[in-house]
Amino acid sequence: MNNKRIIIAIDGHSSCGKSTFAKAIAARLGYIFIDTGAMYRAVTLYALEHGAILSGIVDEERVVGMLGEINIDFRFNPERGASDIYVNGDLVEGRIRTIEVSNCVSAVSSIAEVRSKLVAMQQEMGLRRGIVMDGRDIGTVVFPDAELKIYMTADPMVRAERRYKELTAKGDNVTLEEIYENVVSRDKADMSRAISPLRKADDAIVLDNSQMSVEEQMTWFMERYEEAVAK
Ligand code: C5P
Repeated sequence: MNNKRIIIAIDGHSSCGKSTFAKAIAARLGYIFIDTGAMYRAVTLYALEHGAILSGIVDEERVVGMLGEINIDFRFNPERGASDIYVNGDLVEGRIRTIEVSNCVSAVSSIAEVRSKLVAMQQEMGLRRGIVMDGRDIGTVVFPDAELKIYMTADPMVRAERRYKELTAKGDNVTLEEIYENVVSRDKADMSRAISPLRKADDAIVLDNSQMSVEEQMTWFMERYEEAVAK
């Protein structure tokens, strides 16, 4: 295998398994995996817990005012084989994927100051190369020169069912309908926002995994990876 270390950008719709896929790729290649959605979720959780979001309404000015007091870092967790996210030293990994956070994160992520802070952090992490980063704007804004860009999608009901299984297995009290609603409305918000909307980079390769197993996706990926490093 070629030893060249590249940047792999994975963007796409909500809940189509980007992070699971990115994590498996990183483990396979010995790369670092960064879940940028977790960073937007962490800011959203902080805003929720500090009164900047009331009844689902995001007070943008207060969120911007809080940014200076939000310190995000990732620490590798060998049990998960991935990094956990911390805010001001608190482990928040288990609290950022609730439906409450999911319902507010698109509004928080559309704030310009939030994006510039997090994008700068992400670009710094990429300096090391040998990185797999997943999100919405990685191939278009964060690393427009990434050597391999993948744009993931899947049927919205398939995505909602997967997320529903994940959350109910953890004991969350959610309905399939509200998850479906969240998946569809987040796609819409992420694709129509003014700053860095979700879109496929011209040079990204589309992966629709509606009918694919994790193993099939890995086989598909390794072929693209070998092509990218051979370039
Ligand atoms: O990937 P995940 O679904 O956890 O992302 C949560 C939300 O964070 C997205 O719906 C989107 O609003 C925002 N996000 C973003 N840019 C990224 C990653 C996530 O705007 N690079």
